[in-house]
Amino acid sequence: MSDRGRMRIAMIAAEAAPYVKVGGLGDVLGALPKALERLGGAVSVIVPRYGVDPWEGAAPGRVPHLEVPFGGRVERAEITETRMRGSAVRVYAIASRKYFDREGVYNDPATGEGYPDNPERFTFFTRAAVELIRALGVPFEILHCHDAHAALLPALVDPRYGGPGAADFARSGTLLTIHNLAHQGICPPETLDHAGIAAEHFYPGSPFEYWWRLNCLKVGIELADRINTVSPTYALEIQSGAEAGCGLEGVLAGRSAALCGIVNGIDYEEWNPETDPHIAARYSVRNLAGKEACRRDLREHFRLESPPRRVPIAGIVSRLADQKGLDLVAAAAEELLALDLQLVVLGTGQRKYHDLLEALAARYPGRVGVRLAFDNALAHRIEAGCDLFLMPSRYEPCGLNQLYSLRYGTVPVVRRTGGLADTVFPWDGERGTGFLFEDYTPGALVDAVRRALAVYADPGAWRRLMVRGMRQDWSWERSARRYLDLYREIGRMAS
Ligand code: ADP
Repeated sequence: MSDRGRMRIAMIAAEAAPYVKVGGLGDVLGALPKALERLGGAVSVIVPRYGVDPWEGAAPGRVPHLEVPFGGRVERAEITETRMRGSAVRVYAIASRKYFDREGVYNDPATGEGYPDNPERFTFFTRAAVELIRALGVPFEILHCHDAHAALLPALVDPRYGGPGAADFARSGTLLTIHNLAHQGICPPETLDHAGIAAEHFYPGSPFEYWWRLNCLKVGIELADRINTVSPTYALEIQSGAEAGCGLEGVLAGRSAALCGIVNGIDYEEWNPETDPHIAARYSVRNLAGKEACRRDLREHFRLESPPRRVPIAGIVSRLADQKGLDLVAAAAEELLALDLQLVVLGTGQRKYHDLLEALAARYPGRVGVRLAFDNALAHRIEAGCDLFLMPSRYEPCGLNQLYSLRYGTVPVVRRTGGLADTVFPWDGERGTGFLFEDYTPGALVDAVRRALAVYADPGAWRRLMVRGMRQDWSWERSARRYLDLYREIGRMAS
């Protein structure tokens, strides 16, 4: 497909499914570029190539390697190029033995904690991305950076700071999408100089300085032409207080006019119970019979009891991190399991949650199933086989699992925060798609689950609720149109 006449967009991010995915960021980069292409954009995606990911079909590209000046040295990076399956989206992977050839993406599997040199790794990635774009010679109209990992890029191409891209990108606009504000890439000030911007630009009150350190996400917020986050509610929450704003609430409020929220879509090619190859039986709004087979499959997999009466299965698929509200689940476990339900959890992350969940499974054999792993196929089987899906997040920029749940007729029970508040609406007997609770307390979670079970007790009402969720459209097309509008606004600013 020729790029002539199409808006050229480069996306720079730490993950892109199916090559590498740790969480929702990977899903977005796997789907948004294709949706933009269907709407007439020409998209290139630039990601690191880690030691862990499959890159079938990738080959050295037009630019097979780069010599990247970094920290007074020259680091070599190998570049491979491929096309995203079923599309013309170009994917460029930057490999570096020093920074990316490791067993984990962000975290060291041995400790479950982040690699101590993460800011340096991703600063290198951003710098290398600038070099790659220069070497490709493609006049991208938009450089779309995602999260702290790529947030330094608007500075590197800003003529005011004389960085490595200052001369070449005068006609490119920049957008920063914040998927998660908690990770900011805070590092020593020298990192700025390593990335190619002179140390003199770092001083108190400059866009680069944050409590005498460099904060990559702050830089992106200050310098990108536009900023968005992945839901309107989260865009408001992060400006309003220190907890949601993670210390950047003032900076974000200062750029309020340039900040908006766009809810993520989901990839219905990947998440569709009518075609899903991972699940025991296919089903649809018109014929829900297959869901029973999926429920049986899940019970067998987790060795749950098969009671003669209708007993709902509640599911969780999540990174096991403080953000996700697992402390609430742990604190509420006793009360939850006093109710007539079963629970399955798939997740991996912090050690303390591994221990907690293992203890729970040991305490309630036949009622609680836990798998501590990252397993995409099992995530699909859980979405299909469960009746309820729990997302008691402390905060949630957008959240994808509640959207998958809606599609799979698995009713979400969520905390009213961020993207969860924008995508799940309270069931009132006629309208709505799920159950919400406000307070971050175990009691509020249990209360929401109780409300759900009261509806579950009436099979006709439950079926109506399931079907309402399944009929909703959370496809990427709508969101991709909003991104295109943003790009056009940015383009008008740049020209
Ligand atoms: P976040 O990006 O904060 O982790 P999201 O709900 O936006 O949360 O996206 C999480 C994505 O990662 C979903 O696609 C979910 O299915 C997937 N996921 C998370 N943990 C696991 C796991 N242990 N196994 C398989 N998929 C997982």
